[in-house]
Amino acid sequence: MRPKRFVIVAVDGGAASGKSSTSRGVASRCEFMHVDTGSHYRAVCLACLDAGVPADGGERLDQFLKKLELSASIECNQARIQINGRVPDENRLRSGAVNSEVSRYAALPSVRETVKSYQRDQVELARSRGFGGIIMEGRDIGTVILPDADLKVFLEADAATREARRREEGREDQIAARDKQDQSRKTAPLQAAGDALHIDNSKLSLEQVIERVVEAVQHCA
Ligand code: C5P
Repeated sequence: MRPKRFVIVAVDGGAASGKSSTSRGVASRCEFMHVDTGSHYRAVCLACLDAGVPADGGERLDQFLKKLELSASIECNQARIQINGRVPDENRLRSGAVNSEVSRYAALPSVRETVKSYQRDQVELARSRGFGGIIMEGRDIGTVILPDADLKVFLEADAATREARRREEGREDQIAARDKQDQSRKTAPLQAAGDALHIDNSKLSLEQVIERVVEAVQHCA
């Protein structure tokens, strides 16, 4: 169900709110390129941890960030970030160490500036590669990165549902702590855009959520 014209979709929400599964499903139904911006912050955090550069590293962190080269590798319809020419290992990106540190790095304006233009450039990349649109997920996509998106979706789920999802994945995650830090930071906090379509998926199946977003995509095409 490729839409008639190129459509830009922004999906935001807290940790384990269903952004990735929903975005992947919509991307495959609508022939979109999918961009997971959480993985960008995870990749930068991991690079810093590997290099022993702490979030409170000041000038040293700034110099380290300036040297990072970001590029994209497209696998099927997923745009994966490469740091200095390499796609980071997925298991390491989702490790407990990264989960517990990523929000500290993501709160820093210098880290957000490092990924901002790379993220915005993904729209033209998707267009040039012939995708039917782009679906980009994160915390500030509808508010900061793509404020002119054709469709903005804000996903929500109750705490018990979100914790159960992580347990099923067998992953250690500080969902509530990350959300608190992401919501309270000064730069680009986690929040819904005023014109976002809110979907609480606590009691919906993944297919039902995907269907709602696909319907909204068709509507704006
Ligand atoms: O989406 P995911 O849980 O993988 O994101 C990891 C972390 O990256 C978030 O907790 C948040 O601190 C940061 N993030 C962000 N802005 C985005 C996407 C993710 O600050 N657009």
